[in-house]
Amino acid sequence: MPEAIPLTVHDTFSRPLRDLRISVTDRCSFRCTYCMPKEIFGRDFAFLPPRELLSFEEITRLARIFLGLGIEKIRLTGGEPLLRRDLETLIGMLAPLPGLRDLTLTTNGALLAHKAEVLKAAGLNRVTVSLDSLDDSVFQSMNDVAFPVGRVLEGIDAARAAGLTPLKINMVVQRGINDGDIAAMAQRFHGTGNILRFIEYMDVGATNGWQLGDVVSAAEIIECIHRVLPLEPIQPNYSGEVASRYRYLDGGGEIGIIASVTKPFCGDCSRARLSADGRLYTCLFAADGFDLRALLRGGSTDEEITTAVRRLWSVRSDRYSEQRSEESRLRPKVEMSHIGG
Ligand code: SAM
Ligand code: SF4
Ligand code: SF4
Repeated sequence: MPEAIPLTVHDTFSRPLRDLRISVTDRCSFRCTYCMPKEIFGRDFAFLPPRELLSFEEITRLARIFLGLGIEKIRLTGGEPLLRRDLETLIGMLAPLPGLRDLTLTTNGALLAHKAEVLKAAGLNRVTVSLDSLDDSVFQSMNDVAFPVGRVLEGIDAARAAGLTPLKINMVVQRGINDGDIAAMAQRFHGTGNILRFIEYMDVGATNGWQLGDVVSAAEIIECIHRVLPLEPIQPNYSGEVASRYRYLDGGGEIGIIASVTKPFCGDCSRARLSADGRLYTCLFAADGFDLRALLRGGSTDEEITTAVRRLWSVRSDRYSEQRSEESRLRPKVEMSHIGG
């Protein structure tokens, strides 16, 4: 039978729905100070009980529905996605879905050395690993659980060896915390084939105490790298790519900069986010999501769920980063660990 042609849906700014990020857990083994500060996400924090998480069957059913609406990419995230038991089983269910061109995962890398091969064998295409510094004292105080750099580097090596490539490395840059490590990170991954991406620190959620002064701008990051490893800008791979790309003049590969604060890219934003408990968010900075789990568990048909998603996306007008202001920053926002990056 020929593959069904997806019926792409566009929002009020004509942005198509192309990319789905699925959070598979709200739990994490790290307590990165910019994401899950210990004072909030402490011993008493009420994480989702297992029955509230979407099952693998529910996630796969939704993924199939979203593919029917024209998405091409799925990224598994969290929390820390590798904490979800038997994640490879979910990957094995998603990978063969018709229309899926790219299945990836973002991880803190803590469990990657053990898991890389089984993830690849299950059908995962690539991984993005978060690593904010090569300096153990900086990294350990940022992850706040004293997790060593060396074990993340082992995870990166294992993922490369397993063929989860091109591998990307995410570094969130915070002024006065790890901005002194930008050049060292660039030098460490230059010529390795891994694509290092620098992320401007964002005001996601309401717990990290974000201030504009903590943001190191894309321009500053580029200048810092250019001094030691000269760079030039290159074209995006595709429309809607969030990272601006640069290549080393000496042929040592490329880097990306995700400048959501100083150069917002809402105009091309084609991403929807599904939380671990089945709420659909049309923006990283949204206050609330649409409860798809209620439809799944309430007996709705695929057609009814498709109609609900189509309706939600077609009225979407989110462009938080382009409109960021003192007032909008104070509005309630979902936590990033709840919906994923
Ligand atoms: N636990 C996984 C990890 O850290 O890779 C996946 C989830 S994490 C929320 C996804 C990405 O969001 C990570 O690369 C993380 O560094 C980034 N992130 C979290 N909080 C952020 C913030 N306030 N500003 C910018 N990036 C942030
Ligand atoms: Fe966990 Fe990732 Fe958030 Fe760090 S950024 S606390 S690893 S979810
Ligand atoms: Fe997309 Fe919202 Fe980020 Fe703008 S602020 S790029 S709409 S997720």
